[in-house]
Amino acid sequence: MLAIAKAFSRALGGRGIETLGVRAYAKALGDQSTLPLSTGRPRLVILGTGWGGARLARDIDPKKFDITIISPRNHMVFTPLIASSCVGTLEPRSVTVPITDIQPALRLPQNNFLLAECDAVHTQDRLVECSSTHDGLKFFVQYDVLAIATGSQGSTFGIPGVTEYTMPLRDAANSTDIRTRLIQNWGESSIPGRSPAERARLLHVCVVGGGPTGVEFAGELADFVRKDLAKLDPNRARDMRITLIEADQLLSSFDARLREYAALKLTRAGVHLVKGIVKEVRKDELELKNGAVIPYGLCVWSTGVGPTSFSLSLPFEKTMRGRLAVDDRLRVLARHADGRGPTSLEDVGGGLYLGR
Ligand SMILES: Cc1cc2nc3c(=O)[nH]c(=O)nc-3n(C[C@H](O)[C@H](O)[C@H](O)COP(=O)(O)OP(=O)(O)OC[C@H]3O[C@@H](n4cnc5c(N)ncnc54)[C@H](O)[C@@H]3O)c2cc1C
Repeated sequence: MLAIAKAFSRALGGRGIETLGVRAYAKALGDQSTLPLSTGRPRLVILGTGWGGARLARDIDPKKFDITIISPRNHMVFTPLIASSCVGTLEPRSVTVPITDIQPALRLPQNNFLLAECDAVHTQDRLVECSSTHDGLKFFVQYDVLAIATGSQGSTFGIPGVTEYTMPLRDAANSTDIRTRLIQNWGESSIPGRSPAERARLLHVCVVGGGPTGVEFAGELADFVRKDLAKLDPNRARDMRITLIEADQLLSSFDARLREYAALKLTRAGVHLVKGIVKEVRKDELELKNGAVIPYGLCVWSTGVGPTSFSLSLPFEKTMRGRLAVDDRLRVLARHADGRGPTSLEDVGGGLYLGR
């Protein structure tokens, strides 16, 4: 990616987007780097193929817009079923839907799906600046209407070791990784000569975060151990341990009755509930703020979400929590050139309302 960026930079005499301006820079990259408008219809560019992007792609009338969808994922993931796909109840493939199935008009020549990430939005020029997922090749796409549906990213709160040693549960690829690790640890634990402490570590799954995702995963895993692994090897299944660590209370956004019900169900299913704050994650063990050290074979991290660096970099108003601020019609807000505002971008020359 860096090599390509350097080659561009050399070709442009070392001048970047800042000195050349967006249009001149896009032009200097060559005609191929900017998708020309292909019909007389306005071009709708959708960033992201998650719930938001896929829903808009499905509902939009392709007779009214040329559609370009840009996302590093060519499919939508049915997230509520990800936890089930970790333990084999479902295959990871069956929780995904190709974006071209969601909007078949993407197969028409005036419409595009581009496997790439958007790096920046240039509202004055109505261009999105993107790079391909595979090799970082830079390109621009012109839009008349832009829908930003790039989602969020998992929160780590800057806790050391989370990114390196834990597994998130946000995507179909994550469930494949989790499943692979579970199978690996299950197998490794029964190798002759394995020490009892190491065996116990391998058979211990820690789930950090008692929100809906953590609770659902812990519950699915407990069912899997009791109903499936117990048939394979009852002794080893009995030694499997699942610990759910939550800093505050389980399912804090739910009402008290549901919280108590979930806690009771999990405990009965054999999930060990621990109230604590993770201070550091190390390879094979994590440490809580109270000093307790917990060895683990697999640690799944699910402590909520926050804004991505992409959405933070966008030139629009943000909420207190760093998310994009929108009006009651989901239009982003921006300030006028003279600093007045914030107001919806449509009023300062930006967007169009697309909802029904
Ligand atoms: C395991 C799990 C279970 C869940 N269960 C439920 C549930 O039962 N009910 C419920 O209401 N919610 C549930 N959720 C939450 C729900 O999935 C999210 O609220 C939803 O995915 C948000 O949709 P979105 O379109 O904003 O973002 P996402 O679905 O995260 O999609 C973002 C998209 O943007 C793409 N993208 C990211 N960066 C860029 C970029 N720079 N350029 C272009 N594209 C980009 C991504 O690849 C992705 O395609 C669950 C979440 C998880 C993880």
